[in-house]
Amino acid sequence: MFKSMQSMQMQAVHCFQTIGPDNKEYRAIIAIHNTNLGPALGGCRCLHYAHEQLAFDDAMRLAQGMSYKAALGQVPQGGGKSVIILPDDIAVEDVDRAFLFTWFGQCVEKLNGQYITAMDVGTQVADMDVIFTQTQHVASASNIGDPAQATAQGVMVGIQAALDFYCSPDGAISSVNMADKCFAVQGLGHVGWRVATQLKQLGAQVFAADPDKDKCVQAKALGIDIIAVEDILTQACDVLVPCALGGVIHDANVELLSCKIIAGSANNQLANDGIAQILAQRQILYTPDYIINAGGLIFASHQYRCLQSSNGALDAPEVGQGYSDKIESIYQTLIEIFQQAQGSNINQVANELALKRLDKGLDSLPTKGKVYDAA
Ligand code: NAD
Repeated sequence: MFKSMQSMQMQAVHCFQTIGPDNKEYRAIIAIHNTNLGPALGGCRCLHYAHEQLAFDDAMRLAQGMSYKAALGQVPQGGGKSVIILPDDIAVEDVDRAFLFTWFGQCVEKLNGQYITAMDVGTQVADMDVIFTQTQHVASASNIGDPAQATAQGVMVGIQAALDFYCSPDGAISSVNMADKCFAVQGLGHVGWRVATQLKQLGAQVFAADPDKDKCVQAKALGIDIIAVEDILTQACDVLVPCALGGVIHDANVELLSCKIIAGSANNQLANDGIAQILAQRQILYTPDYIINAGGLIFASHQYRCLQSSNGALDAPEVGQGYSDKIESIYQTLIEIFQQAQGSNINQVANELALKRLDKGLDSLPTKGKVYDAA
């Protein structure tokens, strides 16, 4: 593990264990990648893992990703992630969640604000509310609010940046009218619904797909063209907007894509890193997911810091304001990355820019965060 920590430049990895009321052993890992820009923020996964090492790898890889995401989103936070390893012989529905998240809240509290937790795969707002009874360092309890609106705003900004860049081959960026373009939105959930309906309101042609029939009926009533789930990725369009699952662009479908741009909220859209290279060869402009979907992180970080500075008062006047400009800055970050990438692996270009911002630390950010020394 120390080798992995070294190669990923991981700042600290904290391990915790306890025995539950069911006499089973529960373990948690909190990985802190880098706090140059501020205390580490990142979700808590609560899952079964086939092997402990996979849990360490997950926590460290995701914490590193959060550092990069915060740096490129100009968020004064570091990168962290936590993992709760469920015992093999207990089903998720049998877990005593009140016990588990009370204990996990105590683990987070022990780190004195070096790590701020949030929702992720296998955790819900109700779990975050339990954690909040033990520590203030939670960025997605019910007092923070739903980040989906902010994420959708970032996706709209990212789509505009990608279209403007794609349609300006001579390098002089000018604004493209989205109403003249055609979009294919995969997933009509919290984010996809907002993006698809906003695009439609602007007058664009919008195709969408979702296995949820009710959502499709509602979207159709708004003039959105509903197509089969298995056809959405290969639909001819200007912009493919993946807002459902990870790994949707893979070796078997990358050659079948019929879009000019990919720009959506889903995490880890590319099944492997080689796909970014194939997209570049096919002259499909890929918008790195962790930049275009940073609106949710920008929102959560802002709300958390407002609540901290108002000692947790829920009606603090500044809560809910002041993060929109930062979401708009996703536009400039993407243009910078598009210009630098020009046919090369765009994810690598984005990672290099993130590392530069991390090295520069707080001086590179307009709003400085508090830095904690990792133990
Ligand atoms: P969600 O669960 O609300 O919506 C996902 C939607 O995708 C659901 O309506 C589901 O029915 C649909 N879906 C599932 N399989 C599908 C398929 N094969 N084809 C088409 N649709 C399918 O999730 P969300 O909050 O809208 O997030 C969407 C994506 O964006 C996720 O990958 C998430 O990790 C990522 N993301 C979300 C946020 C946020 O603020 N919610 C922030 C960052 C990243």
